[in-house]
Amino acid sequence: MLDIRNLTATVGDKQILNGINLTVNAGEVHAIMGPNGSGKSTLAQVLAGHPAYEVTGGEVTYDGEDLLAMDPEVRAQHGLFLAFQYPVEIPGVTNAYFLRAAYNEIRKARGEEEVDPIEFLDVVEEKARLVDMDPAFLSRSVNMGFSGGEKKRNEILQMAVLAPKLAILDETDSGLDIDALRVVADGVNTLKRPDSATIVVTHYQRLLNYIVPDFVHVLAGGRIVKSGGRDLALELEAKGYDWLMEGATA
Ligand code: ADP
Ligand code: MG
Ligand code: MG
Repeated sequence: MLDIRNLTATVGDKQILNGINLTVNAGEVHAIMGPNGSGKSTLAQVLAGHPAYEVTGGEVTYDGEDLLAMDPEVRAQHGLFLAFQYPVEIPGVTNAYFLRAAYNEIRKARGEEEVDPIEFLDVVEEKARLVDMDPAFLSRSVNMGFSGGEKKRNEILQMAVLAPKLAILDETDSGLDIDALRVVADGVNTLKRPDSATIVVTHYQRLLNYIVPDFVHVLAGGRIVKSGGRDLALELEAKGYDWLMEGATA
């Protein structure tokens, strides 16, 4: 599904990614961990096509196509989903309206009929149930006055509605309480499908007590310095990151 080869990228003239290699297959959950400033968010943003990040080398193949040649909108239409680390608040736009617009955008790109508000209500209410969200949130302005945990749940609802092929979740380095961690983890576990994949970016070993990743990768100095199975997360919990940092250029 996703094949990253020797990816290098800069932001503001600073080289952040120093040759990333990563393969993600359908049905897999990958966790990308690593110390603060190691380039985790940069990798997520580069995959989503954020214009502030410049790719300076390497290749990314997504679903057999050149991901880096696609505009961010096209990436989304191809089923790539990036959850915002800091979800935006949109006053005056209801959650249901926003979700339907995004949903129809993807349907249009696939040559499918758009759904009207009534049809969409069935879709979104079912998804809200699936991710355990109170339907009252559907008629509120997007993320306005939502708590941290509610924003997380809303992000998971977006993911449920859009049913991405590849979801990339970039979790904050701070401020995620246990409840919010569980929301994210439950969402990822509930929405896991054999034909989709998830990359969870996190500073927190703790999140992986709830999400069971198939693979864990440690990013340090803009490179993946270690990959392993679920046990690697436990090892990191016990030993921290320092033992992996030798040879990593920060
Ligand atoms: P992580 O998510 O692993 O904590 P980031 O990818 O956010 O790391 O950041 C990696 C490095 O890139 C850091 O040194 C950070 O200061 C730098 N960086 C990130 N975004 C920008 C930016 N917009 N301008 C300049 N430097 C940036
Ligand atoms: Mg950071
Ligand atoms: Mg980050």
